[in-house]
Parts: sequence; structure tokens; C-alpha cells
Amino acid sequence: MIAPYPCSAITMQTAYISHPLCLKHDMGSYHPESPARIHAIEDQLIASGLLNYLQHHIAPAATREQLARVHAPAYIESVESSVPAQGIVHLDADTALNPFSYQAALRAAGAVVLGVDLVMSAQAENAFCNIRPPGHHALRARAMGFCIFNNVAVGAAHALAQHGLQRVAIADFDVHHGNGTEEIFHDEPRVMLCSTFQHPFYPHCGAGSGNDHIVNVPLAAGTGGEEFRTAVTQHWLPALEAFQPELLLISAGFDAHRDDDMAGLRLTESDYVWVTQKLKLIAEKYSHGRIVSALEGGYELHALGRSACAHIKVLSNL
Ligand SMILES: [Zn+2]
Repeated sequence: MIAPYPCSAITMQTAYISHPLCLKHDMGSYHPESPARIHAIEDQLIASGLLNYLQHHIAPAATREQLARVHAPAYIESVESSVPAQGIVHLDADTALNPFSYQAALRAAGAVVLGVDLVMSAQAENAFCNIRPPGHHALRARAMGFCIFNNVAVGAAHALAQHGLQRVAIADFDVHHGNGTEEIFHDEPRVMLCSTFQHPFYPHCGAGSGNDHIVNVPLAAGTGGEEFRTAVTQHWLPALEAFQPELLLISAGFDAHRDDDMAGLRLTESDYVWVTQKLKLIAEKYSHGRIVSALEGGYELHALGRSACAHIKVLSNL
């Protein structure tokens, strides 16, 4: 049984899921993965008039059982026990914990779980999770690349285990390869991962590690929207058509934007609109429209706000 969650009056809207603790995880003022990212998206949703039309939800904390479907129990415990009383403790060179980080990470993963429950119970057609820390670099037993728990993987595993789905697809258009998601599901044929990413680039993998349900499309630095769209059309869409997902998750990183100097791809808002439209068509054809999208990267705050807002606007049909 799925526990009922509070939901605003109109069903089949786009759910907007976040939690105040996602603002409290802070790895230092120098760090590009900052609390301001959450505000950048929300501010743009307010400015565009979109926020009021979304179905607002507070993310629950992911349970230990939900996390342990994709993470080693010893790793989960080590994150919890590493939380400092004050200051910052590093898990890897660019991923750190402050006193709120573990709770924020539980909410980020829990947001995707709630999104899955909402779309599977038809309380919302689709969902966007405005969350941090991001997740797609998080490995089964290791934090990596600003990521602590693999939020989208936790959501996909929940869909398999709790809702009995047999085919869950994850589309990842973050500029970095979702190596954590790939590691977790490499030998799980019920999950398809379709990923575009700059290569060679951090995390320096993904170019040769695909299989029939891991569809990796490396893109050279400087790649723009036209080539991105060609890659999606030639590689993602036929794979998704053949797979016929019952649920579509999106690792929505916006750091492939041309204004984002974290990396060197050259996408624009119109490319995010286009790919969201294409994914929406797949979901409408095979998944009753069910999409749960979760924020991954995106570090140039103006581009992040505009791009995420354009993505959510397509999801919500507004
Ligand atoms: Zn990224």
C-alpha cells in the first residue's frame, strides 16, 4: 500500500516537490553547487507566473529501505555518521557534508520517491523535484561529484519494488555522464538509461560502457543544439520506443547550457524545451504521461532558472 500524501485540489497537474532542508546543505561559499540554485529556479517560476499553477509538495525523507535498494547499507551509515556538528567534512574532493547535508540528501531522494508515488497513483501527471544535493554521480557505495545519494536511482528502484513496474526509463541530459546511475543499473534490464554527456570530460567514463539498456551518447566539447537533437533522435528515441517504458524519470541537469562555464556544450532553453517535448511524447505513448524529473546540475544561475522553467512549462502544458 502506498501512503496517501497531501495534494492540492486539482489532480493531474505537474507536482512541484522540494524541501527547505535542500537550502541548508551548503558546501561553502566558493562551491558552485549552492543553495542559490534552488532559488534561481523558484524565482524564475514566480517571475513567469508558473509557480501558482503547480501542485506543491514537501518532500518526505527517503527511508533506509528505499535507499538500500540502490546503496550499500554500510555506505548509508557512513554518510550519517560522518555528519559534522559544525563546519564541513569532505566525502570526496568536491562533495562535502555540513550539519544539514544528510537530512537534505534524504529529502532529495524522498522527493523522487514521492514523485513516483504521485504519478503512479494519478494524483499528478508528472513531477519536477527542485532538489539538492544532486544524485547521478552517486555510486552504490561512494559519494562523488556533488552527489550523496542517487535520487533518480532511488526513485527508479522504488517504482520497480513498490509499484511492480517492469520497465522504467531514465533520460539524463546533464552535461556530465550519470556514472552512478549507470553503475547501479548496468545489470538491471528493467531500467533503461539514456544519457548524453560531454566526452572526454568528468567523470571520464561512459563512452564504451553501454549495453542494450544503457544508451550512452558522448558529445564533443562545443556541441550545440542541432547535434544534440540529432543524437537524441538517432539514439535515445528509437531505444525508448523499443523499450516502451511504463514510467520515465529525467535526470534534469542544465549545465550543458552555453552560458554555463562548468562545461563546454552549447545548448539553449529551446533545446531543453525540445527534448522535454520529445520525452513527453514517449511518456504519453507508453507511460500514461508519467514523468518524474529531478534537478541534477546547472550552475550559471540565470541560465539554470530559465532552462528549468522552460522544462517545467512543457511538463505542465502551461
Ligand atoms: Zn552535471
